[in-house]
Amino acid sequence: MSATIIDGKAFAATVRAQVADHVARLKADHGLTPGLAVVLVGEDPASEVYVRSKGKQTTEVGMNSTEHKLPADTAEADLLALIAQLNADPAVNGILVQLPLPDHLDSDLVINSIDPAKDVDGFHISNVGLLGTGQKSMVPCTPLGCLMMLRAQLGSLSGLNAVVVGRSNIVGKPMAQLLLGDSCTVTIAHSRTKDLAEVCRGADILVAAVGRPEMIPGDWIKPGATVVDVGINRIERDGKKTLVGDVAFASAAAVAGAITPVPGGVGPMTIACLLANTLTATCRANGLAEPQ
Ligand code: NDP
Repeated sequence: MSATIIDGKAFAATVRAQVADHVARLKADHGLTPGLAVVLVGEDPASEVYVRSKGKQTTEVGMNSTEHKLPADTAEADLLALIAQLNADPAVNGILVQLPLPDHLDSDLVINSIDPAKDVDGFHISNVGLLGTGQKSMVPCTPLGCLMMLRAQLGSLSGLNAVVVGRSNIVGKPMAQLLLGDSCTVTIAHSRTKDLAEVCRGADILVAAVGRPEMIPGDWIKPGATVVDVGINRIERDGKKTLVGDVAFASAAAVAGAITPVPGGVGPMTIACLLANTLTATCRANGLAEPQ
């Protein structure tokens, strides 16, 4: 194995420590405690795990965490009423509606009902537009975490060829916007892309956000490239349940210059960036300097 393993777990711990430090200063100097409200509709087990982990880490950095668990058959009007109440509550600086929502709820409508200033997931159409036009916005947590790791690993990204595999609104598209913002030459690949292997081989930076276990083998990777694996796939191997990414780690690590592991790469950074966004939202709401 030749690649540097990018330790997302350690990086996330550093980000959380910085956030905790800033939160302590907000309390001491301004009597402010950032508040994050998480809304979970239904009983999706994976979502419940994420929500619990988010709540725990929120309180660990000194913020207030509130969880709103609603039954799977919640009426859209009731969910919108809860969001309106959270929008109006000055103690709530960040609102996160855990996705996916049950089918009878219109996710776009729900997300766009969140006050954009409190939209710490960065999915509101206003924040998407601000990001796309290079203006100050709330940046989606997963791609933000990927960008932070890439900058730490590579320094300037300017002029590098970046390939993002996946075009979801949550990961692929905002990731591509962020890389473009850092002056990469960006290609967005997806399920209809022709000769994906050859497209990937041109990447100095390869971000995989597909949701297909180990789809990208080492021979699709340019020697020395930096690989960020967003995929989280639960599979069974040798009779044991295990987590793997979208990249075949062992063969990729033999070729890449640096690579994020799964687990322990992008995942921990996502929650750390959620906390960072909640802090940013609190500072903006109170006219205070934002964390750097
Ligand atoms: P989506 O299912 O919304 O999007 C997947 C994308 O992959 C689509 O754009 C799809 O293309 C593309 N795709 C599917 N099959 C292929 C293929 N054979 N070749 C090329 N492209 C393909 O997923 P998400 O973006 O929400 O998530 C992607 C992965 O990242 C998942 O494993 C998810 O669990 C993980 N994830 C991890 C997070 C973390 O914190 N680490 C956070 C969020 C997601 P098309 O549009 O053409 O259908």
